[in-house]
Amino acid sequence: AVPVLCIDGPTASGKGTLAAAVAERLGYHLLDSGALYRLSGLAARRAGLEPEATHADAIAALARKLPVRFTADHRVLLAGEDVTDLIRSEQAGMDASRVSALPAVRTALVALQHSCRTLPGLVADGRDMGTVIFPGARLKVYLTASAAHRAERRHKQLISKGFSTTMESLRADLEARDARDSSRSVAPLKPAQDALLLDNSDLTVDQSVDLVLSWWQD
Ligand code: C5P
Repeated sequence: AVPVLCIDGPTASGKGTLAAAVAERLGYHLLDSGALYRLSGLAARRAGLEPEATHADAIAALARKLPVRFTADHRVLLAGEDVTDLIRSEQAGMDASRVSALPAVRTALVALQHSCRTLPGLVADGRDMGTVIFPGARLKVYLTASAAHRAERRHKQLISKGFSTTMESLRADLEARDARDSSRSVAPLKPAQDALLLDNSDLTVDQSVDLVLSWWQD
């Protein structure tokens, strides 16, 4: 079987950075499942669809045929257009959170996520990798960090990409997104029963990577 390592956790917990570093060290493929919801939100907007329940079926149809390509140099293409930076905006994150609460959209993205499980192995990051998409994964990590740490990291990330924002509005966004992700009826954000918890508030990226790799090698 193809080995899978899942990293789930809330918004801006550092999942993306950790997952990319672990995948690199293991020489495995990387699935950034959040990007798929961000892309679905963007595809919906572009089709003139507000990301809400009345348009669930139409958005799910777009998600099922998402013309996405992840390049070797970590760019994300939607129908050939480079949207790597565009899908990182707070607006795109909010839209992603809204489309991800629609059961039809989640179902529409299952096959694409499963298709990422190929040799030599996969590191998958998201909210429901260990609970729903890859329940049989060999290792599940549930990553957390305090809201203050998460807001600060997201702030740095956005500023470095040229977006302007304040810590207060970011923290409010984070909390709104966490609340929706944890309370929705499908695939609510929660640790898998067999997940190992990792609070990285006071760890460097390298320390977190080494810890996860030591669990993987056990
Ligand atoms: O991880 P990221 O911030 O890119 O995810 C964007 C949004 O997509 C999250 O707020 C969450 O609502 C949704 N998501 C999800 N399930 C996943 C990954 C992301 O519902 N596996």
